[in-house]
Amino acid sequence: MAARILRTIAEVRQFTAEARARGQRIAAVPTMGALHEGHLSLMREGKRRAEVCIVSIFVNPTQFGPNEDLSRYPRDLEGDARKCESAGVDAIFTPTPDQLYPEGFQTWVEVAEVSQGLCGERRPGHFRGVATVVTKLLNIFRPDLALFGEKDFQQLRVIETLARDLDLGVEIVGMPTVREADGLAMSSRNAYLKPEERQRALSLSRGLTDAQRLAAAGETRASVIVEAVRAQLRASDVREDYIELTDARTLKPLAALESGTPARLLVAGFLGTTRLIDNVPIGQVS
Ligand code: AMP
Repeated sequence: MAARILRTIAEVRQFTAEARARGQRIAAVPTMGALHEGHLSLMREGKRRAEVCIVSIFVNPTQFGPNEDLSRYPRDLEGDARKCESAGVDAIFTPTPDQLYPEGFQTWVEVAEVSQGLCGERRPGHFRGVATVVTKLLNIFRPDLALFGEKDFQQLRVIETLARDLDLGVEIVGMPTVREADGLAMSSRNAYLKPEERQRALSLSRGLTDAQRLAAAGETRASVIVEAVRAQLRASDVREDYIELTDARTLKPLAALESGTPARLLVAGFLGTTRLIDNVPIGQVS
């Protein structure tokens, strides 16, 4: 069945009210479009856990910095709609920016601690924009559950925190990162990469895998673990934005792997003007 395209908040409210009246559970998958298998994995899981799956496609201007890629972010609504249908999605919400941010908009959601450091430090205002739009979308959909990827690990923690702190009453489901066959984490931004950059971009996942192997062999020091990732970036001439070993729950830096503390290793790097991120669990599995 074709997915319904919903263009206004009123249309969404009507669609979800009808589903609820039929006793159906609702899963939500917020995205910025240019969909790939990573997004589709969230939709399929949503459809597995709930009768109705609703996807938003919205390139959220408030989470982009002034010198970032808002204007050139890939957009392909027709292709996206076909992919959503193949994943069994029931409805797609495609608002215009002025619907979510009408004249006079002035309310922001800030998640204090877990938004600091990592991408939060390098992209000032980014998580405020993410937290605000996700809160709005969750209020518009009022889903039973919402699915997000571990690919954006800090974002997942930010969203889990706001859903809990603001009593949104929605279950936040984190899903594993979907990768290309050679290990590159799928991302809409991979479309920016020239063939030669696409090859060099493998250094992120390779570095993370090297680091995991070191940790599995008994290495615990953050400095050594981080250096394994750095060596791969350097060999591929990828400019490091950050490489950090953190506590997977708080995302605070760790000086060493500790038993009983789940850890996450996160990397961000630039290939030309394209910024890519990736992360993995490391050390003992949480
Ligand atoms: P985006 O459209 O990039 O804002 O992503 C929308 C959702 O898809 C977010 O929850 C992302 O974490 C998730 N996502 C993006 N890439 C992947 C991937 N490679 N694997 C799993 N989830 C992903």
